[in-house]
Amino acid sequence: MIVRAYGAHAADKQVEPMDIFRRDPRTHDVQIDIAYCGVCHSDLHTVRSEWAGTLFPCVPGHEIVGRVTALGPGVTKFRVGDTVGVGCLVGSCQHCGSCDEGLEQYCEKGFVGTYNFPTEDAPGHTLGGYSGQIVVNEDFVLRIKHPPQQLAAVAPLLCAGITTYSPLRHWKAGPGKKVGIVGIGGLGHMGIKLADALGAHVVAFTTSEGKREDAKALGADEVVVSRNDNEMQQHAGSFDLILNTVAASHDLDPFVGLLKRDGTMCLVGVPEHAHPSPNVGQLIFGRRSIAGSLIGGIAETQEMLDFCAERGIVADIELIPIQQIEQAYDRMQRGDVKYRFVIDNATLDGRPRG
Ligand code: NAP
Ligand code: ZN
Repeated sequence: MIVRAYGAHAADKQVEPMDIFRRDPRTHDVQIDIAYCGVCHSDLHTVRSEWAGTLFPCVPGHEIVGRVTALGPGVTKFRVGDTVGVGCLVGSCQHCGSCDEGLEQYCEKGFVGTYNFPTEDAPGHTLGGYSGQIVVNEDFVLRIKHPPQQLAAVAPLLCAGITTYSPLRHWKAGPGKKVGIVGIGGLGHMGIKLADALGAHVVAFTTSEGKREDAKALGADEVVVSRNDNEMQQHAGSFDLILNTVAASHDLDPFVGLLKRDGTMCLVGVPEHAHPSPNVGQLIFGRRSIAGSLIGGIAETQEMLDFCAERGIVADIELIPIQQIEQAYDRMQRGDVKYRFVIDNATLDGRPRG
């Protein structure tokens, strides 16, 4: 099937309309009519080739929600009409130690990402959610239990939600724990909401004075403007966990110094240029750790979606027609996101929804 998509033909070209191929559903495939797709900073890094290895044409998008329109004959988990989601993963070996533990994102044979990963389908690499339809193996499709009117704001949970939920759970954010969230963009604003819902004492770190009040409204108990040394020093040696979502290279040392003995700063931001090497003394004197975390596995993503549905948690979004994607990228580059752009996929054919 040929479907309408938006993507880029090269790193220095703008995102523009294009027609792409989607396979007919195979035995275990689910065909999904995409209603909304969130805009992750990873889309921008990839489409502008800030990370090495972008395959063109590049159709980004890995925060996908929509409705099932067709099924392969072997599908058992979904029915036509179901509301579903697809995140960053569309395949893995499903046999290695990581996959057996439900950690498909760490598949030892290499997972298949929703875009920019090799596939048998034309054009030879996966194409993401800035498109009308997608066809995905049922094992990588998530069930959405939120009410239909929240669907657009659910989309960002599929990447921003799980990328923050997984490390918060792994490092046991909860009552009695002091958790910092650095960078209040798409990931960071979900990090605040989720850490708050898990019961932690949440401190938001932002470079944007203008986000101070917003961060409190999102659920932060305290807010620190990280450019202000005095504010930073008031939290020295006090954090169990700091989740750093910043999308750009920066000095990690001021944050490492805020960790308790045995505290961890988990990096989830993947900047174009490397961070300066951290101060070793601060790590050694205090047995502190700098760690990393990649999205989350399918079972944990479903757990996060159900956790959010039960508590009414969704992202704070700006819904945009696909035609505004370049302006959205420019604002994202400036840290001016409140707090996730979501594409209304009904605008792909040039007509507004309704
Ligand atoms: P985003 O919406 O653009 O948010 C990033 C935030 O970082 C900004 O809003 C800003 O918050 C802060 N920031 C400070 N200085 C910045 C600068 N010079 N440039 C850009 N941001 C700056 O991005 P996102 O979608 O949350 O993604 C954040 C990072 O995580 C990206 O690198 C993305 O590729 C990566 N990511 C990783 C995973 C994973 O599995 N590990 C998954 C998804 C995304 P303040 O204004 O509050 O300072
Ligand atoms: Zn993402």
